[in-house]
Amino acid sequence: MSVVLSIKNLAKSYGAVRALNGVSFDVPQGSVFGILGPNGSGKTTLLGIVMDVLRANKGEFYWFGQPGGSPEQRKKIGSLLETPNFYSYLSGTDNLKISQAISGRGTRKDIDEILKKVNLYDRRWSSFKSFSLGMKQRLAIGAALLGDPKVLVLDEPTNGLDPVGIAEIRNLIVELKDKGHTIIMASHLLDEVEKVCTHAAILKTGNIITTGTVEDIMKDEDVVELSAADINVLLKVLQNMGKEVLLDEKANTVQIIFPKGMAKMEEINRHCFDNGVVLTQLVLRKKRLEARFFELTSN
Ligand code: ATP
Repeated sequence: MSVVLSIKNLAKSYGAVRALNGVSFDVPQGSVFGILGPNGSGKTTLLGIVMDVLRANKGEFYWFGQPGGSPEQRKKIGSLLETPNFYSYLSGTDNLKISQAISGRGTRKDIDEILKKVNLYDRRWSSFKSFSLGMKQRLAIGAALLGDPKVLVLDEPTNGLDPVGIAEIRNLIVELKDKGHTIIMASHLLDEVEKVCTHAAILKTGNIITTGTVEDIMKDEDVVELSAADINVLLKVLQNMGKEVLLDEKANTVQIIFPKGMAKMEEINRHCFDNGVVLTQLVLRKKRLEARFFELTSN
């Protein structure tokens, strides 16, 4: 696995506010890497540091193996941290020509290709003000694609969009990944990361709680909840099954967690009965992904 961005122990404070508290992770090439966290968790600060807009107090980051990113390497990175100022009376094409002239990234000849990539080619001569919110955001992503960067860094790319616009941007991100770009994006929406990203790091108040493939992080689980007259005897009998058993003293229940689809209710019931425990409750609960995110990010 080739790594495009490696972050090591990054820390950043704003006065007394610790925005990042020793954050480390690697972004694999070809991934859509989601930085997932609630508001104020440090996502924008992290993206600002790796894009050289902000300076970290501690730690390092490496773009394509180079500390801090050499100017040559940095040309391979396009970013959309803030919405660019487009001219409302000018067309998509003309706005990209201006972005190209200001940034010096890519050439004018690339603009048609970019408009095709962001699915705006048919509307390239329409004025910016006639664009839907989703189209405006796609043009902004188009501007970030000038110079054909290998990596795109996007901060909350669907923020403020209506459902149609959100779907357009999510589809575009997946298309860009399929065309070979690596995408690093911040989001506070679990379902967005689940739908769009291949990998994620979950941030909570400046700390990484977990990182890895979305499949591993978001793994759905079967939670079996049981109860019996004597909860301690039940606990012992279940421990004999060789599973980790969680006791919820308040609710007077115990829980066993299985990978999705692996809980065999009949077997559990028989095991308890054969060991002298009659269950008063046996329920299979699907652990919701939202619950897992909440559990990961709450205190
Ligand atoms: P959001 O989704 O709301 O943008 P975020 O996850 O991007 O949040 P950051 O914007 O990086 O989080 O903020 C992390 C913490 O740092 C927050 O507590 C925020 O209030 C604080 N912070 C960010 N920028 C500044 C600043 N310029 N001065 C002081 N504190 C700041």
